[in-house]
Amino acid sequence: MPAPKIVVVGAGPAGLTFARLLQQNGLHCTVYDAERNRNARNQGGTLDLHSEAGQRALKEAGLWDEFSKHARPEGECDKLVKFDGTVVWDENVLKDFARPSDGGKPEIDREKLREILLDSLESSVIQWDRRVKRIEADPRQQGKYAIHFVDGTRDTDIDLVVGADGAWSKVRPLITDTAPYYSGTTAVELWALNVSENHQWLSGYVGRGSCFMFDEGRAILAQRNGNDSIRVYACVRQPETWKDDCGIDWTDPRAARQALVSGYFDDCSEDLKRLVVETSNELVVRQMYMMPVGISWETVPGVTLLGDAAHLMTPFAGVGVNVAMADALVLARAIISRKDNFFAKALSNRQNIAGAIKEYEKFMFGFAKENAEKTYEGLQRGHFSKDGVEKRADKFKEHYTKLTGKVLSDDAFDHEARSLSTVVVD
Ligand SMILES: Cc1cc2nc3c(=O)[nH]c(=O)nc-3n(C[C@H](O)[C@H](O)[C@H](O)COP(=O)(O)OP(=O)(O)OC[C@H]3O[C@@H](n4cnc5c(N)ncnc54)[C@H](O)[C@@H]3O)c2cc1C
Repeated sequence: MPAPKIVVVGAGPAGLTFARLLQQNGLHCTVYDAERNRNARNQGGTLDLHSEAGQRALKEAGLWDEFSKHARPEGECDKLVKFDGTVVWDENVLKDFARPSDGGKPEIDREKLREILLDSLESSVIQWDRRVKRIEADPRQQGKYAIHFVDGTRDTDIDLVVGADGAWSKVRPLITDTAPYYSGTTAVELWALNVSENHQWLSGYVGRGSCFMFDEGRAILAQRNGNDSIRVYACVRQPETWKDDCGIDWTDPRAARQALVSGYFDDCSEDLKRLVVETSNELVVRQMYMMPVGISWETVPGVTLLGDAAHLMTPFAGVGVNVAMADALVLARAIISRKDNFFAKALSNRQNIAGAIKEYEKFMFGFAKENAEKTYEGLQRGHFSKDGVEKRADKFKEHYTKLTGKVLSDDAFDHEARSLSTVVVD
């Protein structure tokens, strides 16, 4: 029996990790992506990879050493600020603080992660500029699928279609009618480039990793990226139409920043307002969509979904890429464990693949639900509530005390306190 024909739609972290894992184990797949080439689009900000998800997938894919060369463990460093500018937590000054996470959650630029995965694949695997229009059960061959591209071409005779094509998946309709819905939050993404030269204040204020302000219905999230840049997300809880009817002219990024600050962050501290206004480079308005928490479906033989295509979440727990890479790992394992069956005749390819999908989806529904719940908590409360930063700081302080036996004073992180000896009371 020939090896099954496996096609992945989407060259994001999920699709690429899956393709690499198959390749490592002697199985071939083709990855179709809509982008014109690998450099066609800016790939966005920084991602932290968790030990039992993103990190585990890269280890099994034989890419751990490459990842370690580019990872930024110092990017885990958090600073938490109230809307009035009070700093309630700042790891930039706590030199003896280690994170509670097992093995750490080092950051990596999304672009770098993609490069590592792309460079690890044989050139025949990826086909760029292949935007999928729709997929259908192949009318001529039972149990097989046909993909139609927007340019009028098609690919047929496919045993397994893996939809890793993100939020607006074209594969998803084969499996479920459920579609993403607006989460109630819009994020204005603001970039500052060459910060060590052009934005020294911003660079110093944000610190080595992330700087967060959470408040009722609004948040500012600033993150250092690897290429001497900082991205700031100014988030507001507003209706879906806000982007178009709020009266801000997004085509004038400088005036838009000012209008955003005066309309939604005017009572914030001067430092927080400056955080938004000083980011003088690109501005992107992102309406945040999500799939229902705990989504599941009846397994469809020959088709499945990975990552955002399966369970799109808002970024308010920072887990999306980890769940996506864990999906890729578990589906790849399920296929690889049946590799010998593909070449024996005991079961058909269709039966083998159906078994693999069932095994994978059982894991995926549970793991995605767990992480979607965490994310929903961040969306509804953590990131968008009055006491959000204090609650998070309390958790960190508790851990700090457990770790060091020291207690931090209430005003530990005021502007004068800049060394550990001045912030510890016990
Ligand atoms: C602002 C923001 C910040 C985030 N921050 C974090 C974070 O800190 N930590 C974290 O873990 N996650 C974060 N996420 C989420 C994370 O980026 C996603 O969960 C992750 O990228 C999902 O990967 P994926 O491979 O499933 O999909 P994607 O990365 O969306 O990749 C999908 C791919 O499919 C291709 N494609 C789409 N349609 C088609 C088509 N019709 N035909 C062919 N190809 C197609 C696209 O070109 C793309 O390459 C963030 C997301 C956003 C929006």
